[in-house]
Amino acid sequence: KVVDGEVVYKKTPSSDLMQGIQLGIRHSVGSITPKQSRDLLMIDFEEHEIVDFPSEGGTYTPAHSSNSFRFKSYAPRAFRHFREAFGIKAEDFMLSLCNEPLRELSNPGASGSLFYMSHNDHFIIKTVQRREALFLRQLLPGYYMNLTQNKKTLLPKFFGLYCYKSALGFNIRFVVMNNLLPSIFRYHERYDLKGSTHARMASQKECMKSDPTFKDLDFMNKHPEGIYLPPSTYEALMRAMQRDCLVLRSFKIMDYSLLVGLHKLDETELQRNSMDSQTSMPDVTPPPTHANSFDLMSSPDKPQSFFSSPRASASVSKEEKNESLRRAVLYKKLSEIAAVTGTPLNVLNKKFQKQVSYVADISETLDLDPELETYAGGMLAYTDKKERCIIFLGIIDILQQYQLKKRLEHSFKALLYDGEAVSVTNPSFYAARFQDFFAKRVFKVMGMEMLKELMPAI
Ligand code: ATP
Ligand code: CA
Ligand code: CA
Repeated sequence: KVVDGEVVYKKTPSSDLMQGIQLGIRHSVGSITPKQSRDLLMIDFEEHEIVDFPSEGGTYTPAHSSNSFRFKSYAPRAFRHFREAFGIKAEDFMLSLCNEPLRELSNPGASGSLFYMSHNDHFIIKTVQRREALFLRQLLPGYYMNLTQNKKTLLPKFFGLYCYKSALGFNIRFVVMNNLLPSIFRYHERYDLKGSTHARMASQKECMKSDPTFKDLDFMNKHPEGIYLPPSTYEALMRAMQRDCLVLRSFKIMDYSLLVGLHKLDETELQRNSMDSQTSMPDVTPPPTHANSFDLMSSPDKPQSFFSSPRASASVSKEEKNESLRRAVLYKKLSEIAAVTGTPLNVLNKKFQKQVSYVADISETLDLDPELETYAGGMLAYTDKKERCIIFLGIIDILQQYQLKKRLEHSFKALLYDGEAVSVTNPSFYAARFQDFFAKRVFKVMGMEMLKELMPAI
């Protein structure tokens, strides 16, 4: 798989694939964007668009330095609709993915998929198997239905499904999705949890990495008591998981995980804050209120409170108010990210440009109170050792459907081991065990005493 120091996937060097992905997405988004919006139709889920990219350049495609390839966009209109529903502008999508080199991630999964991250952290690209791509296409109408019914979902957000066909004829299918763990934060612990205990321990090789992803048994070793959440956070999270599991079960999906990233605040921010004797949370300085400037840092305005600002009166239109409010929220988030990461605000502002709102935000997903339950976009929590942390999470790897092969694998493994603990079971059982694991083992509700001690504001 690694040839001359470069990853090669289906006989295609990773650098060729990255270039192909960027050229292909730029072309695909560029050609769907001018098309007029209309209601989604059933046939939109089945459509695809094919474009050839010869090395020497074609009528509509630029010349490039890698081998010729063909690029297929699945259901471009449906995915455009999803991107819009998720609040992603075509321009930002294209700039994020196509304007700067992608970063290759080392994948802790066993499937051999390649992972790439957009330079600004927002998007993850994952190569998927033919079976998974086919399944996602079948899933799209149901996925669409779920999205319109339930916005508070931890399920992956799919922004595109494409296929790169190499000159040698290999099909490399990939999805673009949201990055759940913004790499701007350092994760002191990162877990991929399924609720199964059978062989769910990170390999030695994984543990050697600088950012290992641990598994269920590792979690139980490290946090025998689990992670404590304020009651309202716990309830919102469990409710979301329940609804999501119902959807997953109905599609006979299994083998998914909850990806959990844990950043310990006390190891970074508190130290810094105590050094300059600030309180634990930074004050919210008002964002600049210039109507046309989008730059959150564009001017160091007078320190007047946004909310009591005389401008926020009857003379200001509703849109203007919404825009100002949105910017105030973004600014708060940015200052919190700055406090957590120690990165100066102006550097952060440059990195994220106009796209701070795309950085994973669990308060939006779960509709939590950003004043009490979240910080810098993550859920506030305490470990069983009373370490204050923020947690980012989401469900991943949902394109695996229960199949005959899996069933055989299960009955075989169940003969050898404890049937219930084996991670290959049926979808209903899988979903029930998954929910139970998080409700009882991983997450706990803070009791009154703990709340009073740790979160007196609640
Ligand atoms: P396998 O099938 O062997 O479990 P896979 O190749 O299908 O692996 P995933 O399970 O989807 O891969 O993901 C592997 C790892 O990649 C996760 O444990 C996580 O660390 C990271 N990862 C996957 N999706 C995301 C995401 N949306 N955001 C952040 N990290 C992710
Ligand atoms: Ca997985
Ligand atoms: Ca998988």
